Amino acid sequence: MSIELEPVSPRPLALNLYAQYPSLRDRIDRAVDLYKSGAVTITSTAIEVLSASSDAVYLVKSDLSSCTCPDHEKAPFGACKHVLSSALHIAAHIELPAKKLPRIVKFLRNAR
Ligand SMILES: [Zn+2]
Repeated sequence: MSIELEPVSPRPLALNLYAQYPSLRDRIDRAVDLYKSGAVTITSTAIEVLSASSDAVYLVKSDLSSCTCPDHEKAPFGACKHVLSSALHIAAHIELPAKKLPRIVKFLRNAR
């Protein structure tokens, strides 16, 4: 069960991600755009993120450990923009028990 919170602006979350993961700056910018466009949907089995450049839908594991896009293997920390936009979405919307939160989301949550 989850409790919907008022969504927060992704800006402070993104600023904290910049500080923590400077090598991800471009991907963080693209993830903020994706998040703001409403591309992220959480389903019972995974997180669906619409591609920014095609009709594809990429599947991100609920614990943010993988994404089906081609960039996931190349991105530092496996943090493609779909994983990052999923992290922004989770941090902004959903209250979960702390121990169930992926690490990157814990960081975002503490920062807000
Ligand atoms: Zn991806």
